Amino acid sequence: MLDNDTLNREYNQLVKDFRALEDEVRRIRRTLEIKEIELKAVLAQSHEISNTDALTFLPNRRKIIVDLQEEVIRAARYNTPLSISMVDIDHFKQVNDTYGHAAGDEALRTIAARLREQIRHPDTIGRYGGEEFLIVLPNSELNAAQEQASRLCNHIRNLQVEAAKQKLISMTVSIGVAQYKNGQEDWEQFLHRADIAMYAAKNGGRNGWKATEE
Ligand code: GH3
Ligand code: MG
Ligand code: MG
Repeated sequence: MLDNDTLNREYNQLVKDFRALEDEVRRIRRTLEIKEIELKAVLAQSHEISNTDALTFLPNRRKIIVDLQEEVIRAARYNTPLSISMVDIDHFKQVNDTYGHAAGDEALRTIAARLREQIRHPDTIGRYGGEEFLIVLPNSELNAAQEQASRLCNHIRNLQVEAAKQKLISMTVSIGVAQYKNGQEDWEQFLHRADIAMYAAKNGGRNGWKATEE
């Protein structure tokens, strides 16, 4: 049989142990909360990196295609207009051949930055390929995309781009513009029409834009 003093001592010890455990649980919970915040930050960073082109810091091909696919779905569902532009730098191989690949990279970065500055929300631009960029213009008719294409061509042709140390060069772009045929084509057919228009702009002498005729 335990006496009262012993029972009291044991009871007090149990209460102390319990409080210590509660403190420990609080500490662990706080640590977990901090780890969760860190994990979310790392995930957001890796998501950002996987969607960004390492040279130009524009959305990469994967991201701009996802944007295009989403906008095609939205345009088909709500029957709203949607246009795209395919932008290709003219004679870019010559820049590399004349000034070297590193200078070519620098020129490419500059053109990408200047194009992005000219694009207004909700339009988005991504690096589609080597020296090709895709612009997605939600809620835009062909007219609006044509106006933008004309403005971009003007802007780029008037730029002086640093290609090598203290060497400024002029560059031009050719742009193909297309408006989505709501519900009648998928995103690949739509993109293909913009690509064909871009080649028509090349064949038309470059340094300009063309819209799809059909
Ligand atoms: P066009 O007017 O017909 O478009 O001529 P182009 O020379 O621009 O076209 P072409 O397709 O013959 O060559 C594209 C060049 O772009 C070749 C390739 O080396 C260069 N290029 C593509 N990506 C990069 C890059 O990341 N950095 C550099 N420096 N050059 C690149
Ligand atoms: Mg090209
Ligand atoms: Mg080119």
